[in-house]
Amino acid sequence: MAPLHRNECHARVITVRAVTVRAVTARAVTAAAGCAALVLTVTTPASARPFDPARQTLAAHDGWASYGTGTTGGAAADAAHVYTVTTWDGFKAALADGGSAPKIVKVKGTIDADGPDCASFEVPGYDFGAYLTRYDPATWGRTTTLDAEPDDSPEGLRRASAARQDAYVKADVPANTTVIGVGRDAGFKGASLQIKGVDNVIVRNLSFESPLDCFPQWDPTDTAAGNWNSEYDSAVIYGSTHVWMDHDTFTDGDHPDSTLPSYFGRLYEQHDGELDIVKGADYVTASWNVFADHDKTILVGNSDSAATAAVDRGHLKVTFHHDLFSNLVERAPRVRFGQVDSYDNHFVAGDGYSYSYGIGMESQLVAEHNAFTLADGVNAGSVLKKWKEAPLTADDNYVNGALTDLIAVHNAEVPGEVLRSGAGWTPTLRTRVDPAPAVPGIVDHCAGAGRLG
Ligand code: CA
Ligand code: CA
Repeated sequence: MAPLHRNECHARVITVRAVTVRAVTARAVTAAAGCAALVLTVTTPASARPFDPARQTLAAHDGWASYGTGTTGGAAADAAHVYTVTTWDGFKAALADGGSAPKIVKVKGTIDADGPDCASFEVPGYDFGAYLTRYDPATWGRTTTLDAEPDDSPEGLRRASAARQDAYVKADVPANTTVIGVGRDAGFKGASLQIKGVDNVIVRNLSFESPLDCFPQWDPTDTAAGNWNSEYDSAVIYGSTHVWMDHDTFTDGDHPDSTLPSYFGRLYEQHDGELDIVKGADYVTASWNVFADHDKTILVGNSDSAATAAVDRGHLKVTFHHDLFSNLVERAPRVRFGQVDSYDNHFVAGDGYSYSYGIGMESQLVAEHNAFTLADGVNAGSVLKKWKEAPLTADDNYVNGALTDLIAVHNAEVPGEVLRSGAGWTPTLRTRVDPAPAVPGIVDHCAGAGRLG
């Protein structure tokens, strides 16, 4: 068996003889590794295969993505379906090749997925100045959306330009695929991974810098003040099943919201979510990721509408464990309908913080063994945000080192929005639970891209 190095964060599969594993308990090996995410795969007889994270499958019982048929991604790929890519065009071509045959797409270095600049997506005649003039609330008002505007209007030209960007920055991930970064510096600038209507996908060891929507749409009717709304999540799991997001990093990179301008008195918001899980998606495990420096971070379910409820109810089962949620505003995640298990995560909150867990329609959140590091002035009662009447389970959570009843402290601080306890289900798909006080040390050291080995 390969030597284990103390203080390394490699998520290793250690293939050992059955006779060996009897002598070494999983706990002892984990301690020796100095870090978590260690999986023992026992084979008889021994195999000398080197550790290859691209071939790793989700361990049994590791969160909702292990349910039923489990999540193997492209682990079974033959040699013809293993690709190494260094460009956005090459990445999209690899994804499109070979249908749903198991495939592994290895990403090398940082891939620019957002094109040369926003101007490259503009259709002839598009003029943002004309857009601002035409839809200024002082003349357009605040009661009519722009949806009925004709194709040759400023909004029509915005729509056409946005469609060109949409086609460029989105990449469809097929079934039975593993997308994995090579080494410690792999990722995308401005990509939007579409995991849509497929089963069995793994995405690991990649840094995602949020896409910037070049053409946000003004909606005069979205709140009393109006809003600029953007598209393009870094990754979206849309109606898909068995997805494992592991050791990825999501940030706004070089363009945080603080650098964005305002128009009509509203922030010109060019970001959407970091990871949205919507439209009946099911069986997702998000482990050892970093979600950082962003506003609206993760949606589990994106609407309360009756049509959406019909698709989402009974689905949206997601596990978040050993993730770092740092310097976010809200939605970590905001949950509707789903049975979401969130345990052993570290939340770090400071300036601009709104809330972490959004308790939405028919959600059944279980939040246990998490650690919260809140700056001075951030109240523990704001960790939870009640959107709808939906009981949750919140046990054994620590705020700044102290065991804290998140529901009780919320209800004391926000008496008008009383939350009730009892999610109505008990998670069983957990491989290991670290004590909450140890979570910051483990997660800060080991979560995110570049820490897989
Ligand atoms: Ca670029
Ligand atoms: Ca979204």
